[in-house]
Amino acid sequence: MRNCLFLFCSLLLTHGLGQAQETRLEELHNQTILVFTPHPDDDVFGAGGTIALLNRNHNKVLIVVYTNDDKGSYDPDMTSQRLARIRHAEQEASEGLLGTPKENIMWMGYDDGMLEYAPQPKLTEEATAIIRRIRPDALLSVDPGEWYERWHKTDHRMAAFNTIDAVRAAEFWLYFPNQRLQQGLEPYKVPEMYFFYPAPPEANYFVNIDGVADLKFEAAAKQVSQFDPAVNKYRPDWTSEDLKKAKEEMRQEQPKKDGHYVEAFRRAKSFNQY
Ligand SMILES: [Zn+2]
Repeated sequence: MRNCLFLFCSLLLTHGLGQAQETRLEELHNQTILVFTPHPDDDVFGAGGTIALLNRNHNKVLIVVYTNDDKGSYDPDMTSQRLARIRHAEQEASEGLLGTPKENIMWMGYDDGMLEYAPQPKLTEEATAIIRRIRPDALLSVDPGEWYERWHKTDHRMAAFNTIDAVRAAEFWLYFPNQRLQQGLEPYKVPEMYFFYPAPPEANYFVNIDGVADLKFEAAAKQVSQFDPAVNKYRPDWTSEDLKKAKEEMRQEQPKKDGHYVEAFRRAKSFNQY
C-alpha cells in the first residue's frame, strides 16, 4: 500500500513538473520553424530577436513573405518594379543578419496592399500547401495588430486571417484534397503558434531578447527604404547620423518587461483554442 501511494505521488509529481517545464520557443533546438509575414520587414520588427535566437539554436527557420512590398515609397521617381527589387534585397540582408539564409525565404509575390483582393481560396490553398510541405514544429505569424493598424493595415489583416485559416485547413485532408492525392502532401497539425504584433491585453508570451537586441536593430536598419530619409527620396544607405537616430528610436520603441527587452506574442496551441 505504501508502495502504491509512493508510486502515485511520484506520478503526480512527475506529471506536475512536466506541466511546469513546458518547452519555451526560444529554447528549441534543431527544429523547423515557419514564419509568415505580410511584408518583408514585419517578421524582423515583430520577431527579429526571436528569429535570431532560433537560428543560433540551430533551428531551421523558414520565412514566407506574402507581398513584395512594392508600394510604400513617397519618392515620385520610384517604380513598383524597382521598389520590389529593393525590398527583396533589403529583406535578404536583414534576415541574413539574423542568421536566416536567403534560400530559406519564400516569396508568395502578391502586390503590396492587394492581399485582401487576391482570390481567397487560392491564397489559403497556397499557404496550406506550404504548411503541409514544411511541417513546422512551431509557426510564427502576424496578428492583425496592436492598435489602429488592425483596421488600417490591409495586408496585416489578410495575412493574419489567411495564415490561421491555412493552419486549420492543413490538418483536415479534405480541404484541398488534391494536395494529398496528386502532390503527396499529407495533412499536418501545427503544434505551436506564436502571433507577433498582438494587442497588449492578449499578449501571453514574452521572449527576452536582451542578448540580441542590438543585432535586431542592426537587422531592422537594413530595411533602409522604410525609414526617413530613404522613404521620401530613395538612397541605398544611411548617413551615420540618420542611422544612429533610427536605431535609437528602435531602442526606445522596443517593448520592455521587468527591465528586459522583449518581443510579445499571443501563443496558441490550436486554431480553435479559446
Ligand atoms: Zn507590414
